[in-house]
Amino acid sequence: MKKSLANFRTLAASGALALAVVAGPAPLAHAVGEGPNYDGNGQITTSKLATYEQMVSFLKDQDARQPAMELEVIGQTVKGRDIHLVKYISDPAKPTILYLTQQHGNEQLTTEGAMEFIKHLGAGKSADILKGVNILVVPMLNADGAMGDVNFSLENYLAKGDRNLTRYNAEGVDLNRDHVAKVQPETQALHNKVMRKYRIDYMIDLHHQGTRAERDGKLVSGSILYPTTPNADPAVVEKSKQLGAVVFNNVDSTGWGHLGKYQGGSAETISRNGISVEYGIATLLFEMRGMSDHYLDGYALGQRSNGYLIKQTVTTLTSTAAAIADGSIADADTSFWNTLAEQTSRPAGEAEDE
Ligand SMILES: [Zn+2]
Repeated sequence: MKKSLANFRTLAASGALALAVVAGPAPLAHAVGEGPNYDGNGQITTSKLATYEQMVSFLKDQDARQPAMELEVIGQTVKGRDIHLVKYISDPAKPTILYLTQQHGNEQLTTEGAMEFIKHLGAGKSADILKGVNILVVPMLNADGAMGDVNFSLENYLAKGDRNLTRYNAEGVDLNRDHVAKVQPETQALHNKVMRKYRIDYMIDLHHQGTRAERDGKLVSGSILYPTTPNADPAVVEKSKQLGAVVFNNVDSTGWGHLGKYQGGSAETISRNGISVEYGIATLLFEMRGMSDHYLDGYALGQRSNGYLIKQTVTTLTSTAAAIADGSIADADTSFWNTLAEQTSRPAGEAEDE
C-alpha cells in the first residue's frame, strides 16, 4: 500500500497524472494516517508570498529606478494577466542567459528569489555582472495558477483561508509538458517573444519539488539536472553540465545547501529537454525543496523554510550570471556529475524539517 502510494505521488508530482488529478482530488491523501501538520513541514500559509499584482508593481518600480533594465509584456495568460520579461541587454554580442520561474504556479519561492536578484542588479556590486552578460528573466510564467485563478476546484489544497496556488494553468494544463505542441498562451508567449527572438546561450528553469527528497541520507535543499534527451547536441549537454557545476559549487558549499541529482525524464515536452534541442540552448533544471501549496501532504512546505530557499535562488542566479560574465564557466569542471548521487525519496512519516 505504501509502495503504490509513493508511486502514485511520484507520478502525480511529475504531472503524468495531471488530467486525472485535476478531474478528481486524490482520495489517497487522507488514507495514510499522517498528522495534521503535514509531516512536520509546518503550517501551509501563503500570505507572505507576493501576489501577481505585487510582483508587477515591484517590476514597474525597478524598471523606473534601473536605467539598464527594460520591462516588456510578452503576452497574456488564459485569464488575461500580462506576462512580463525583464531584460538587461547591453550588447547582443555578449552571452545571454534566461532565468524562468513558476511555470508551475505553486512553486513561488523561485520568483521571490528572482525579484531579489533583479533588485540587486540595480544596485552595488551585482551591477558589475551586467558588463559581461545579457540577462533575461521571465518571472511567474503561470500567473493564473500562482493566483489560484483557474477553471477547476482547489478546495482540497492545503493552504486554508489563504490564497491557493496550483501547478497547472487556468485550463488545468501542465505548462512544462507543452514545449513541443505549444498550445497554451503562456507557452506561446515564451517561445514566440523570448526563445525565438533572442540568441540565448543558457537557461535555468526554476522549480520546486516535494519535501522528502534526500541525498546521502540527508534531505536536499534542491536537485539539478541537464538535458537528458538523446537528441540533445553533446556540446550543448556539456555546457549544461558546466552551468550545473557553477550552481553546485556555489550552493552545495554553503551551510544550508545540499544538492542531489534530479531524476527526470527524457521527454522533449519538458523545457529542459525541448528547449535544448529546438534552440541549442544549454539548460539546467533546478528543483528546490517543497512547494508553496498542494493537495498532497508531503509536497507543501511551510514558510519557515522560505529564507534559505529564496537565498538559494539568489545564489544560483548571481553565481551563474557572474560565471558567464567573467568567462569562468568555460573552465567549470563537470566531473562531479559522475559521482553526484541521484536523489531518493525518504519514506512517509520519516521526513523532518531541517
Ligand atoms: Zn515545477
